[in-house]
Amino acid sequence: MKENSISIKKKILVAGGGFAGVETAIKLRKYGYDVDLISERDYLFIYPISIWVPVKKKNFEDVTIKLSLLSEKHGFNVFIEKIKEINVTDNIVKTESSEHHYDYLFIAIGMSKVKYKGIEHTLSICGKPGDSVKIKDELEKLIQRGHGKIAVGFAGNPKDPTATAVRGGPAFELLFNFSHYLKKKKLSDKFELNFFAPMNEPGKRMGTKAYGKMDVFFKRYRIKTFFGKKITEFTENSVIFEDNSVLESDLTIFISGGEGHDIIKKSDLPQNDAGFIKINELCRVSGQPNVYAIGDAAAIIGHPWASKQGHIAEVMADVSTYNFNNEMKLKGKRKSYWEKLHIVCVMDSGDGAAFVVRKHNKDFIIPLPILGHWMKKGWGFYYKNSKLKRIPRIPGM
Ligand SMILES: Cc1cc2nc3c(=O)[nH]c(=O)nc-3n(C[C@H](O)[C@H](O)[C@H](O)COP(=O)(O)OP(=O)(O)OC[C@H]3O[C@@H](n4cnc5c(N)ncnc54)[C@H](O)[C@@H]3O)c2cc1C
Repeated sequence: MKENSISIKKKILVAGGGFAGVETAIKLRKYGYDVDLISERDYLFIYPISIWVPVKKKNFEDVTIKLSLLSEKHGFNVFIEKIKEINVTDNIVKTESSEHHYDYLFIAIGMSKVKYKGIEHTLSICGKPGDSVKIKDELEKLIQRGHGKIAVGFAGNPKDPTATAVRGGPAFELLFNFSHYLKKKKLSDKFELNFFAPMNEPGKRMGTKAYGKMDVFFKRYRIKTFFGKKITEFTENSVIFEDNSVLESDLTIFISGGEGHDIIKKSDLPQNDAGFIKINELCRVSGQPNVYAIGDAAAIIGHPWASKQGHIAEVMADVSTYNFNNEMKLKGKRKSYWEKLHIVCVMDSGDGAAFVVRKHNKDFIIPLPILGHWMKKGWGFYYKNSKLKRIPRIPGM
């Protein structure tokens, strides 16, 4: 298994067809390897631009790329199957319909979310892709009714001490977009927009400069805030907090903290307390020389301000495949994903955006009225079309 020869044909398996899995399969094909990719969905979901599905700026199909098209363009094999077990002792991935033996495995199946009492009464823009359409439908019902109370919030995972899996940006983006959308419909006065989070300073992870500007945004988009309130449960029409206060809501959108994927948690893979796969800086799984883990599925350690993001998933895909290829070709050089860890996000508001950057030594936020919104739209176009080889890729993007 662990011999360093390229004369033997290796079976390479990529588990997951999101940002991390697809980029890994593309890179491996560029290095000349045959690749099988397994995904439960037959499309890649472009999460960052899915925030526009609820406000009808994008259709569901606009924020997807068919894996069959990607397979055709890049030459990897796709299996649309739901994985039910990963067994790294026996080098096998079992799906609901078959078994895949491998020599090398790249795990990129994303993450699960911490469960709360009554979470079924909420929708999430960061969960199942179909929720984006459900949010659109529920919002439309309230608009038809002419008034409503909307609550959007997020939380972390106490077992994830560095909070790399907190996803707050999309909650802000959704609220700002709702506000802009309702204003265009002249319904601002008829709707209450509320934001809730258990931490005292939600959004601080983006950096102190970005956090310092959040009040301005909340005021501009007429959003009431409920910070530092631990959530006890959700009901059909409310959020109940630990201090027994109640936030009434006709539509509750909640982005729960991330935790390890259920498949990972019940596997023989090494995991941290939150269930993310332990890797080294080369993206190789601890104690498993033939297994790499990338994207949201992997534990980011040693960088307390870092965040699981799409561009980090792509960096990890690049790093893991480079290291794998050099190992196969007996070359000594290796890359570390740590060198490229930073938060970059264009936080959209429907009528503009803010460009937020956080690196280990600095952070900044640049408000980009109007232009920022089009920049993010431009990124969506670029991501989709460059992946499908319709336009050239910009190095490093
Ligand atoms: C609303 C939103 C906005 C965001 N905005 C930004 C942004 O502006 N910038 C940024 O960098 N990042 C952003 N992110 C984060 C980014 O989208 C994620 O970090 C990225 O999607 C992680 O990629 P991944 O491939 O690891 O996981 P995913 O994209 O979740 O992909 C997981 C893949 O595994 C497959 N899978 C899961 N379970 C199984 C199973 N049992 N069997 C088979 N296949 C399975 C899924 O079908 C999917 O193909 C945003 C996220 C959200 C939700």
